[in-house]
This record gives sequence, C-alpha cells and structure tokens, in this order.
Amino acid sequence: MLGKPANLIQDIDFDLYESGKTHRLWLHLIDDPLGNAVAIPVILVKGSHPGKTLGITAALHGNEINGISIIQRLINEIDPTAFHGNILAIPVVNIPSFTNRKRRFVDNVDLNHIMPGNKKGNVSGVYAYRFFHKVIKNIDYLLDLHTASTGRINSFYIRADMKNKITAKLAKLQNPDIIVHNPPADGTLRGAASALNIPAITLEVGNPNTFQKSMIHTSITGIYNAIFHLGMMEGTLVADETPVIRCSGSYWLYTDRGGILTVFPATTKIVEKGEKIAVIRDIFGTIIKEYFSPERGVVIGKSVNPVNQTGGRILHLGVLRK
Ligand SMILES: [Zn+2]
Repeated sequence: MLGKPANLIQDIDFDLYESGKTHRLWLHLIDDPLGNAVAIPVILVKGSHPGKTLGITAALHGNEINGISIIQRLINEIDPTAFHGNILAIPVVNIPSFTNRKRRFVDNVDLNHIMPGNKKGNVSGVYAYRFFHKVIKNIDYLLDLHTASTGRINSFYIRADMKNKITAKLAKLQNPDIIVHNPPADGTLRGAASALNIPAITLEVGNPNTFQKSMIHTSITGIYNAIFHLGMMEGTLVADETPVIRCSGSYWLYTDRGGILTVFPATTKIVEKGEKIAVIRDIFGTIIKEYFSPERGVVIGKSVNPVNQTGGRILHLGVLRK
C-alpha cells in the first residue's frame, strides 16, 4: 500500500511526464491509522501525439478483480509512441477493501453509492472525494470495470445510457453478451462522471474474486475497439459473431421464503414468461416454493449461493428491448 517514495505523488500533473512513455505511479489519497500513505496505483500512458484521455478504473469494489488483469494486459501491450492522447488507468480504486478482499469500503459503505464523495466527509466520503477529484477530473471518457457481487455470477454486460450517442457507441464496441439501457444514476462513479459531461459506461465483467481468462480477453478486444474508434490508435475494429442482446431495463427478482435456493437458467439464457426459474427447499430437502419468470427476458446475472434468507436475490432479469 505504501508506494515507493520516488513515484509517490499528491496529484496527477500530466506535464511532468515524458510523452511516448508509460508511467507507473502511486497517488496518495489518505493515511491509514499508522499514518502511512494509502496510495492508489496509477498507470499513465502518455502518448507521443496529443489527444484526449481515456480513463479506465477497476476494483472500485475491492473484490471485483477481473478488471485488474484487463488493465495490466492492455497497458503492457500498448505502444505509447504510437498513441494519440493518453490512458489513465487505475487497476485498484478501493485499496483498503482490495487488501481485505471485500466489496465495500472499511466503514461498510458502497463507494459506488456515494460518488463524487464529500470533501469534509467521513472515512468513505473523503476517500471517494479525493479519488474522484484527483483522478476523474483528468479524463475525457470513462470505462469503469466491475463484476458481480459475492455469491452471484454475471454475464459480460454493459450498463450505459443508450440514448446518449457516445455512450451507446462505446457500449456496442465492447461486444458484450448483453447491453442494458440504464441512465447514469446518482452516487455511482458513472453518474458522477456523466454529471461532468464525461461519457462513461460500466462494464460488468463476470464474477468476483477470480480471473476469468476468456472474459478478460473479450473485454480487452472491446477496449481496443473503443481506443480505435476514439482515434487514439490505428487498428481494425473487431465485431462479435454472436449478436448482442439489448435490454431496455432490468430488475432483480427476490425470494419471499427462506431456505436452500436453486436457480436453474444459466446467465445469458432467454427465459419465457411462466418458465420455472428457481426452487427453495427446506432444510430436509422438500421443495417449499417454486419461482417462475414474470415475463420473457434474459438472465443477466444470478445467485449461486444456495443459502437463502427471505428477500435473497434469485436472478437479474433483463427486459428485452421491443
Ligand atoms: Zn462493482
């Protein structure tokens, strides 16, 4: 967590760094109880040619780590001497929770509910504020990388405002399984960036606490597509053979009984109205409740932890675009 003093910085000043090079830095945000600097890793690809800055953030939720590998692989491949503009990538935003392998911040607050933070705020509020103001103010576009939460799995899906031309295009370029139209919500990093007119999309890349090679690979291809489209590098756009499933919205289905939960359909599967999607058994193994899909839709994500209390999540249903 404590950066090497030589590259521990208080702010990101692009002018200090040589063009045509990739710079690896530690940005000081807060201090831990021992007074040590808690710094986030910052990768600045400073292109030889001037241009816009693409921001890529991962592990805002500390256990959502596929994005770390995506950033590492992407950055190690990119040639800054051929790059127009810059990439500002943060492989881990939420350092304290990453080291604790937790989703939420140390005070149990979800950082993606309180953006852009609060300058004079509490533990999570001030961390969010300093991250947002030291990093996001420097970028022109944002790709925010996430995964499902603990006990759940996701398809590779994008949340984006599909009524905004730029974010709609960035979403399609990712070649995801599913795109969910979702106007940027208050408190999220995507919403706070959008409020500053920074086009932002959320990439939900699979499952927490693991590296999923094929999803990481697909996602890197999509980010390259965005880079080519934005004119930052020369390259050929890669399209997916399987058509993307477009959703006009989505919602979670919850249990109304406690017990042992089994959810049937796989992620990305289309379920029909009335199709059986889950059962709950009591602790003796007897089925006590069956659940059916309320409408035709696509399974964006689902619970894989059978231990279910009343109100537990069943599955995340995407409403198919008419
Ligand atoms: Zn997340």
